[in-house]
Amino acid sequence: MSDMVARSETIWAYQFRVVLLGDSTVGKSALLRRFTDGCFLEVSDPTVGVDFYSRLIEISPGTRIKLQLWDTAGQERFRSITRSYYRSSVGAVLVYDISNRQSFLHVVTWAEEARLHVAPRHVSFALVGQKCDLEEHRQVPTEEASNFARLHKMPFIEASAKNGKNVEKSFVMLTELIYRLIQSGDIIMDEQWDGIKCGLVPKPLTLDDDENKSCCA
Ligand code: GDP
Ligand code: MG
Repeated sequence: MSDMVARSETIWAYQFRVVLLGDSTVGKSALLRRFTDGCFLEVSDPTVGVDFYSRLIEISPGTRIKLQLWDTAGQERFRSITRSYYRSSVGAVLVYDISNRQSFLHVVTWAEEARLHVAPRHVSFALVGQKCDLEEHRQVPTEEASNFARLHKMPFIEASAKNGKNVEKSFVMLTELIYRLIQSGDIIMDEQWDGIKCGLVPKPLTLDDDENKSCCA
């Protein structure tokens, strides 16, 4: 691969740090694995796993966002997620299991906790009803979750890490929301904060061009 190709592939406009929140067993790790590796494991150990994953997504032609995605590696079972875990997050995917009503009722608590810890900065949310392949065990009507999401002004979707349905969209809708808030000036850039990092402006590369410009310049 030529140097030019390698460079153009690594260029991203922003990096967003995003956490996955929700009760244990709702399928947070499975959703992340499906999004980053494209695979699904039937059995997963809640305490083992990588803490963070990353993936580039292109939200519009030429505009790439690098997502740094943090998983909880089992701490959520004990409600012992530390403040530092949330603090540097610009976004949170709130995950519940459509076949587990309690996990939906707890979404509000997860959101509150994130908001509290990220304050005074703003955290954006997306709501994801996981395991939508389990239709016959559904305990949370789509409309109820959709109304909740509308009330709290967050994008919502039902997804399945098992069959891959809407997994991509779960992350894209949150990324687009954060990107829009930056564009509109509702999120103020702060170089001291890890929630959002500026990358490089994608531009046509030429052979004698070896200077990259930062979008924060
Ligand atoms: P976490 O504790 O929220 O990280 O949940 P895991 O990702 O470890 O998943 C918990 C269990 O649910 C595992 O047995 C998974 O195989 C299963 N699971 C995860 N996602 C799905 C899904 O989309 N559909 C179904 N049917 N099972 C799932
Ligand atoms: Mg997990």
